[in-house]
Order: sequence, then structure tokens, then C-alpha cells
Amino acid sequence: MTTAIENVRVFDGSAVSGPRRVVFGESVSGEDTAPADTVVDAAGGVLLPGLIDAHVHTVRGRADLEDLARRGVTTGLDMGAWPLEFVDEMRRQKGVAQILSATVPAVGQGGHHAKMPGIPAEAVVTTPDEARAFVGRRVAGGADYVKVVTEAAPPEGMDQATVNALVQAAHEHGLLVVAHATTTGAFRVAVEAGADVSTHAPLDAVLDDDTIGRMREIGMVSVPTLTMMEGVAKLFAAAGFRYEHARDTVTKLREAGVPLLAGTDANSAPGAPFAPKHGESLHRELELLVAAGLTPAEALAAATSVPAQVFGLRDRGAVEAGKRADLVLVGGDPTVDISVTRDVVGVWIAGQRLPTPGR
Ligand SMILES: [Zn+2]
Repeated sequence: MTTAIENVRVFDGSAVSGPRRVVFGESVSGEDTAPADTVVDAAGGVLLPGLIDAHVHTVRGRADLEDLARRGVTTGLDMGAWPLEFVDEMRRQKGVAQILSATVPAVGQGGHHAKMPGIPAEAVVTTPDEARAFVGRRVAGGADYVKVVTEAAPPEGMDQATVNALVQAAHEHGLLVVAHATTTGAFRVAVEAGADVSTHAPLDAVLDDDTIGRMREIGMVSVPTLTMMEGVAKLFAAAGFRYEHARDTVTKLREAGVPLLAGTDANSAPGAPFAPKHGESLHRELELLVAAGLTPAEALAAATSVPAQVFGLRDRGAVEAGKRADLVLVGGDPTVDISVTRDVVGVWIAGQRLPTPGR
């Protein structure tokens, strides 16, 4: 089955083209004029690569992946899900968002995460030896990357040597490390250990220039999850947590040239402080990234080409010949007004149109 979308403008990673024709089966064709089984008139709408949410949790099962897809999110990077049989079943789902997964995250023994209902005992890591064994289990279980929750020093979080050992072991196995950090202290732990990606943004203060400079030196990428930080800041205002600290950190990270990815922490987990909705929340994240200083085109790249590049997803992230036909048609030009991404007209996953996009 091949489809042609006519009279469509295409986001190329930095700008929107003039009206053209795009042809695809499971992947995008290089032959724009080829005949097709189905022809769609886009009426001047804009075609985006399927959106990538770089921080989700798969909790309910297929329903989470359906909600992502309906809103144009065709790939979710899961940052903590278990047991392994569940993760593998979710990876095999068709016609919905595809996920990659960290599987079980590593957490310190005294922090909030160790107390989350249902967290497996093997998630708690307290020594460098345990960190190496933890990474070994992730590799054996087919984790796509390793997630570590960096918190304050013991007794709450892991000590620096343990985080260092975890990052080193993951790198020896060729896996990226994603470090959860919601305070400036946790960011310093993650940077010191050489984590590849930080997720969340500090609520206690704006991140200092020295730490941001070191992030840039080591090539760290940020997934600030502003949607989550906005929700959490409201809940913990009495503790001095302020959303503006997270927002202003993102402004500074962009100015410093630290790559930013759109991620929401979408979850439906019991015990989570705030639960951004799968799919819908990515559109909120794009708006918050723009409000923090990204151009709309930069925000779109943060949800398409940049996460594909960082996580090595060579088959997606662009509307280009040979890439998977994971596509989102929106009603206007989101490089002019980012909120237009909410106007989802059509979603295709590997060339198959979803029957009910989330308009
Ligand atoms: Zn999370």
C-alpha cells in the first residue's frame, strides 16, 4: 500500500518547504511523482516527522502507546518500566507508538524513587560493585540505555563513586546513560560522572554557569521535561521549588549550545507526584520550550531529528527518502505558531494511517 500526500509543505528539520507531493509505503519514497494507491490532499497543511517524546513511562500498557500515537507521538523513549516481559510485549505492539526502554532504573536507597510502589528491589544500587552488576543485568535484559536517578548524597542518593561506576560500566557496553536530576546538586553528580543525557531541570535554583560549561564540554544533552517540572513546582512550592528556575535553566542551556530534547515524563504511575498525559503533554512541552527561548523550529527539531541522532535512531526523525513513514500532518505551520502541532489532521505509522487522530 502506497500513499501520496499532495499540496503539502514539509518540515525539513529547520524550515518548512513550499507545497509539494510526498509518496510513501512503509518508508518514504524518493520518487515524489510516483503513482500511489491512496491520495490525500493536505490543503497546504504541514507534514512533520513522527514526534519523539524523549521521556515517557509505559505503565497502562498498549493504551499509553495508543494515546501517544493519536497525538502524533510515534516514538517514546521509556525511562523506567518493568518487568521485562511487559517491556518486551510493549516493544512488539504494532500500529501504535514504538518504544525503546531503559527497563529498570537505578535508584539510591533513601530517596523518593526507592519508595515508589512496585519498584523492584534490584533497582536500589548502593555501591560501585552493585552498579556494575546492575548494568550487567540491564545488558542481559536488552535495555536500550541505562537510567540512573541522581539525587543528593547518601543516605538519600548514591555516592559519586557509585554513579561513576554505573556510567563507566554502561559505556563499556556501548549504552548511553540518562541521569534524572531535579536539583542543582544532582546535576553536578551527573556531570561529574559523565552521564550522556540529563533529564528534568532544577527547581531549587537556576543551574550555574560552571556546571553548564561542563555539560557542554562533555557533550551532555538535556531533556528538561518542563511539563513535569511545571506540575511538580506547583506541588512543592512550599519547599522553595520554582518553575522559573527550570525555565531559566533551559534558556541558559540553549544559549550555551547544549542540545535540548523534548520529553514530558508522561506517566500514569501510582505514587508519581504529577502525571503528564501521554501524547497531549508533548504539545505542552513544545510550547514551554518555545516560551523558554527556543524558536518553534528548534522545538520541532528537539522532538524529531535531534533525539533520533542522540539515540541512534537512524530510521526516523526526518521526512526523507528511506526513512520510516512515521508522519504527522498538522493543519497549519508550527514554525510560525508552535501550538499548531495540536491540530493533528493525520498520523501514519510505518505508512499505515491511524483511524482516529487526536484532533
Ligand atoms: Zn520519569
